[in-house]
Amino acid sequence: MSSRGLYEKILLDHAKNPRNFKVPEVFDVKLEGFNPLCGDQFTFYLVFDGDSIEQVYFHGNGCAVSKASASILTTLLEGKSKREALNIIESFIKIMKTSPNEKIDEDKLGKMAVLVGVREFPVRIKCATLPWHTVEKIIQGETHSVVSTE
Ligand code: ZN
Repeated sequence: MSSRGLYEKILLDHAKNPRNFKVPEVFDVKLEGFNPLCGDQFTFYLVFDGDSIEQVYFHGNGCAVSKASASILTTLLEGKSKREALNIIESFIKIMKTSPNEKIDEDKLGKMAVLVGVREFPVRIKCATLPWHTVEKIIQGETHSVVSTE
């Protein structure tokens, strides 16, 4: 199987069986993210342990790309320091802004690599980045308004 085919399989698995997809009873902060272009609407819940992210949960509705992206994000940020998490988020958003023809080192990306194919579908890029923008705002301490891609 090509890596692209494998990535699609992993993406679909995350969309069908999203990880950490629930409203937790206990959390420190929550924030809603909304992508009006597609209708993706998720609330993210973070549990901090000092300066580290203990858990990320999310709940809501959205297309397969946004749901899979959110699911992958929650698994990636678990146990990371706030600084590490912001670095991961920044590098992901930066990659998603590059042209699909631009060669990137997929080995370095780890789990994020499965989302890189989304660059070939410009209307879907905001679906993929919405969860990352929303969690970035939470970590930066902005939790008072809805994060919108528009
Ligand atoms: Zn979407």
